[in-house]
Amino acid sequence: MEIVETVCAMKAQVAAWKAEGLTVGLVPTMGSLHAGHESLMDAARAACDRVVVSVFVNPIQFGPGEDFDAYPRDIERDGAIAAAHGVDVVFHPTAEEMYPPAHNTYVVMETLTDALCGASRPGHFRGVCTVVTKLFNIVRPDQAFFGQKDAQQLAIIKRMVADLNMNVTVVGCPIVREEDGLAKSSRNAYLSPEERQAALVLSRAIRAGEAAVAAGERDGTTLRRLMTAVIEEEPLARIDYIEVVDGLTMRPVEAIGETALVAMAVYIGRTRLIDNFLYEAGE
Ligand code: AMP
Repeated sequence: MEIVETVCAMKAQVAAWKAEGLTVGLVPTMGSLHAGHESLMDAARAACDRVVVSVFVNPIQFGPGEDFDAYPRDIERDGAIAAAHGVDVVFHPTAEEMYPPAHNTYVVMETLTDALCGASRPGHFRGVCTVVTKLFNIVRPDQAFFGQKDAQQLAIIKRMVADLNMNVTVVGCPIVREEDGLAKSSRNAYLSPEERQAALVLSRAIRAGEAAVAAGERDGTTLRRLMTAVIEEEPLARIDYIEVVDGLTMRPVEAIGETALVAMAVYIGRTRLIDNFLYEAGE
């Protein structure tokens, strides 16, 4: 397993693999790897001849006052985890390598990025679309693996790939949770023991929502109220949003039809956590 730090060296490695006719899988991450990332690496390992994991805390997807500086970074630990999961290369460029001073081009999507996390984090998905496009151009993956944990991001990347005719198959992978239900996240490291306990309210609300839908509830407002009530039982929690939206357009739905995304962002103390579930009729 090799850690590659320059775009030039990464492109050369990919060119050599392609010359041999090998397929390439890419797992884009911001590092601080956990079991959620590991599930993506395992999926990539099973599907592709060569696997690249990018570890890059992308400055342009963080807004002012967000946690760019505080975001946990430990490339040695990440490298060891990637190696243990059969990853061939960790691509770990510096911010200057990805965005040299003359950098002046961004990928901006229209309405899909307005709702949910896009509404709370202006410019976030511009940063995500730009870095993912750059990673796709550098690594030229046959398949790229993203978690359902970031459901809006996954929908946006799929849309971008279709809209811009990119030659990559986007694979969505299920949310990996701690045993007690909390969705794995690098940001869980920010939580104090008391907050870690309080954070369970997210998965509790998700389970309550899922149970209601399974029991036949289809009204978006009722579902939001029910889940809001669960979150409001926890004094350390502050709701950023709870929304019931169409899984493709991210527009709010009044009544759930064939498919819906039920997504939330909740502050536990100063830490913003997200969770969601996808409803698909017949599943
Ligand atoms: P991040 O490093 O947080 O930017 O995440 C990198 C990738 O890992 C994204 O595609 C995330 O959706 C995915 N991911 C993060 N947490 C989880 C999780 N708990 N389960 C599944 N995928 C995850």
